[in-house]
Amino acid sequence: MGLDATAYAAASAPQENTDSVVSGSEENRGVAVIGGGVLGMYLAYKLRNEGKEVTIFEAASHSGGLASGDEIGSYTWDRFYHVILMSDLNTRGLLEDLGIADKLNWGTTRTGFFVGGELYSMSDTLEFLRFPPLSLIDKLRLGATIFFAARIRNWRRLEKVLAVDWLTRWSGKRVVEKIWMPLLRCKLGDNARTASAAFIWSTIARMYAARRSGIKKEMFGYVEGGYDVILRALQERLDEIGVKTVFNARVGGIVDSSDGATVNWNESEARNFDDVVLTVPTPVVAKMCGQMPDAEVERLNGVTYQGIACASLLLKKPLGPYYVTNITDDWVPFTGVIEMTALVDRENFGGNALVYLPCYLTQEDDFWNKTDDEIEELFVSTLDRMYPEFERSDVLVFKVARARNVLAVSTLNYSETYLPPVRTSLGHVFTVNSAQIANGTLNVNETLGIADTKFAELMEHLHDASPGQTKSQELSE
Ligand SMILES: Cc1cc2nc3c(=O)[nH]c(=O)nc-3n(C[C@H](O)[C@H](O)[C@H](O)COP(=O)(O)OP(=O)(O)OC[C@H]3O[C@@H](n4cnc5c(N)ncnc54)[C@H](O)[C@@H]3O)c2cc1C
Repeated sequence: MGLDATAYAAASAPQENTDSVVSGSEENRGVAVIGGGVLGMYLAYKLRNEGKEVTIFEAASHSGGLASGDEIGSYTWDRFYHVILMSDLNTRGLLEDLGIADKLNWGTTRTGFFVGGELYSMSDTLEFLRFPPLSLIDKLRLGATIFFAARIRNWRRLEKVLAVDWLTRWSGKRVVEKIWMPLLRCKLGDNARTASAAFIWSTIARMYAARRSGIKKEMFGYVEGGYDVILRALQERLDEIGVKTVFNARVGGIVDSSDGATVNWNESEARNFDDVVLTVPTPVVAKMCGQMPDAEVERLNGVTYQGIACASLLLKKPLGPYYVTNITDDWVPFTGVIEMTALVDRENFGGNALVYLPCYLTQEDDFWNKTDDEIEELFVSTLDRMYPEFERSDVLVFKVARARNVLAVSTLNYSETYLPPVRTSLGHVFTVNSAQIANGTLNVNETLGIADTKFAELMEHLHDASPGQTKSQELSE
């Protein structure tokens, strides 16, 4: 199989890399899943349950991608902050499957707004009505916009108009300046001006669903130990059912041939498969698949990706009572303040507070060039200005995590122009990735949903001739 692929492998400079090879995986068949984030792991789980031979290739030394954990001082918690909503039925279903649903804790949280150098609570209707930066008319228009948006079913027409124009039409200029633009910037940084109205619609719909399925108050959930616990349980399940995972395997090329596709990784390793499914971001797909025609590469590279630099801080005391504080003042360099310990018991962190300071970035932003020390100085001095009770000596740990390709921004006409189809022009290469979330709120629930909705189409086109019997059937016999 795959003469081209053999030539590719032979041409690459060979390197000793035995670490990344899983023993017992020499058979050249089955499905390769590229990317061991939540999506790749869940897709592998589903494929294996349909009886497929599955191998995951993951560039990092561990699975989980954006959802993975990190050492924050002597505590392990999410590298990027994560919560689960009551309405996240796919995520909750997975926790049930993994037998860890009992580790899920729920709490109500409060929301703050930092406007004109002052911190306001905006956690219920009364506080909203009292919120000084807006007049009563502004508030009525804002409330009506949210109420109306949450009831829209046909989001496709919202893709044809910019979020900022749509919001100005419904809420008025002042509300857009004072509330919507800062909120959009909190999620999209400078991409806020290019997002379509479908993005704001889906954000509102997600928050509204959370309130509907909860007890009218916003309820957020987390698993004791953070997302790391979920990922470990999922990885254990994958190992148990026979999914092979090759860690430390950076895939550099996929070569399609008449009877399969070859995965080339770490510039020295190659293995043939019946099919390859790519769960990585679209620019990475384009780079990997050198045989794709220009138009396809252009479409893949046309997706606007949102990046993030996010600081995690372990503090001696909390900053305030809010899980999320939205920031409208543009002198603040981070786009929000997330106090994880407004939700999670501080006992989990030795009585300290865990705070995230996210900064959402376009690919071109100069912020990418800042060192960790520069970011620490900038962020800590900003906290000093924002919170009178904050002292620099409160900071026990300051860490920065960065990710370039976090979210495919829902730009104008996204689903027609950019959304990648499951089938690529290469016969044995398929894409199931988060860029297929048409309207832009990236979360684990939607990510699992993409795997579920694309699965039938994927199964229909796979060539792999693994026996139809599922692993669960085999285990029960
Ligand atoms: C700041 C932030 C906050 C978030 N908050 C929440 C939240 O509160 N609730 C929620 O549900 N979700 C949240 N999310 C979203 C959630 O993390 C994602 O939906 C989910 O992790 C996406 O998974 P994925 O597998 O699609 O992508 P990724 O996690 O990006 O996985 C892709 C994987 O591919 C690997 N890879 C890339 N290139 C290669 C290569 N060449 N070869 C091999 N492997 C490669 C990467 O290492 C990675 O592991 C948040 C995300 C961020 C960044």
